[in-house]
Amino acid sequence: MKCCIVTLGCQMNQSDSERIRSVIEGMGYVLTAVEEEADLIGVVACSVRQKAIDKVYSKIRKWNRWKNDRPLVTFVSGCILPADEEKFLKLFDLVFRMNELPELPTALQQCGVATEFSTRHLLDELEREDERTDFWQVEPTYGSDFEAFVPIQNGCDKFCSYCAVPYTRGREVSRASADILAEVEKLVGNGVKSITLLGQNVNSYGLDKKGEELSFAGLLNQVGELGNKSGKDFWVYFTSPHPRDMTRDVIETIAQYGCLAKQIHLPVQSGDEEMLRHMNRNHGIDAYKKIIADIRELLPTATLFTDIIVGFSGETDEQLENSARLMEEVGFNMAYIAKYSPRPGARSAEWPDDITPQQKSERLAKLSAILKRTSRAHNERMVGKTYRVLVERADKRMEGALVSRTEGRLLVRILQASEGLIGTFQDVRITSAAELSLTGELAGA
Ligand code: SF4
Repeated sequence: MKCCIVTLGCQMNQSDSERIRSVIEGMGYVLTAVEEEADLIGVVACSVRQKAIDKVYSKIRKWNRWKNDRPLVTFVSGCILPADEEKFLKLFDLVFRMNELPELPTALQQCGVATEFSTRHLLDELEREDERTDFWQVEPTYGSDFEAFVPIQNGCDKFCSYCAVPYTRGREVSRASADILAEVEKLVGNGVKSITLLGQNVNSYGLDKKGEELSFAGLLNQVGELGNKSGKDFWVYFTSPHPRDMTRDVIETIAQYGCLAKQIHLPVQSGDEEMLRHMNRNHGIDAYKKIIADIRELLPTATLFTDIIVGFSGETDEQLENSARLMEEVGFNMAYIAKYSPRPGARSAEWPDDITPQQKSERLAKLSAILKRTSRAHNERMVGKTYRVLVERADKRMEGALVSRTEGRLLVRILQASEGLIGTFQDVRITSAAELSLTGELAGA
C-alpha cells in the first residue's frame, strides 16, 4: 500500500505533513512522491492562500476521476477556512484538523476503499474540543536529516485584519516546554544542524499558560543551556514573531548562547502608523524601531529580515513612502514584499481592494529596489571574509556548485565543491557579492 502526501503551504504545513507521515507509515503504508501509484492520497494545504486552494481543487477533481478506474482514498488537512471545509467535505473522503491526527488510523479504516465514497468529518463524530493538540505527541518523520522544524505553538490571537489564520488554526495554544526540549535534544543528538522553532505567533509562546509555562525568553534560555551541555554545533531559529511580543529579554537571551542563531525575522508589514492600525497590528513604528535598536546593540552581527505588504486596502502614496523610509532606515538583509490580495475569511476581505494591480506592481518594485540596495551593501562588506555556512543542496543553476546559508540565513553559492558536503558546516571565504546572494570558496581550497 502506498501513500502520497502533497504539501501546499508554509513551514507549519510542512511540519504538519511530517507528523501525518508518521501516522500513515505506522499503518503500514509506504510513502511515494508519485500520485499515480498511491492507494491513499492526502493534501496538506493552506486555505489562506488562494493559489494553494486553486491547486487543491484541481488535484481533487483529477483524483476523483481516477476513482472510476481504481480504488483510491483521499484526505485533506492543514489550515482550512470554514467555507472551504464545507466544500472539501463533498470532494474528499476525509477532512480532518491537525488536532484530530491521533484518530486518523480509525477514521481511514472506516473510510474503506475509494469506490465506497464515504465523506466523513472527524470533528463532528468525535466531538473533540477545538483546542486539543494531541498531534504534538505524534513523532514526526523528518524530511531532512540535518534540518528540522519543531512546532512550539499553534494558532493566533492577534487577528491582523488581512489574515485568516486565527480562523483556520484557532486560538493560541502553547506546546509543553518539556516536550519541545525533549524533541530538540533528540534532534541535536541525531546530529541535526539547523532547528526552526515554529508557530504562527512564535514569541507569544507561554502567554496562554502564564505562571504555568515558560515564557518565550525562558524557552530560548533552556534551548541555549541544552546547546551548551550537548557540546554540538547547531543553529536554532524561530519564525514568525510579532513585534508586540518581542521583548528585550528575548534578544538578551539570544545574545547569551552560541546555538541561538543571530538572525531575526521580524515582520513589520507597513512603515505607516495609520496603516498599522488599519491592519490591526497593535504596535507602532517607534516600538518597532526600538526593537531594531535593541537588536543592533545586543546582536551586532545579526541579520534582519522582514515581511511587508504593499497596496493594502486604502494605502496612499504617502503611506507607501513611509514604508520605503523605514526600509531605508533599517536596511534589511531580506524582505518578503507581497502585493496585497484579499484573503477569504479575513476582515479586510470585506473592504475595497482599491489599489490597482499596476499601482501594486509599481509599489512592489519601489520597495524591492531599496531592498536590493541595502542587501547588496551588507553583502559587499562580507567579501574577503570567512563565514561558517551550512551546506543545503546542489545548485540546480550551476553545475559543480553547492547552495549554503550563513548563520544569518544569507545564501552563499560555493563553487567547485563536492555534494558529499551537503548537511555539513563549512568555512567559506566570500569572493563576490550580489543583491540577494553571495559567492564563495571553501576556506581551505
Ligand atoms: S500575527 Fe497576524 S499575520 Fe501572523 S498569524 Fe496572527 S493574525 Fe496572521
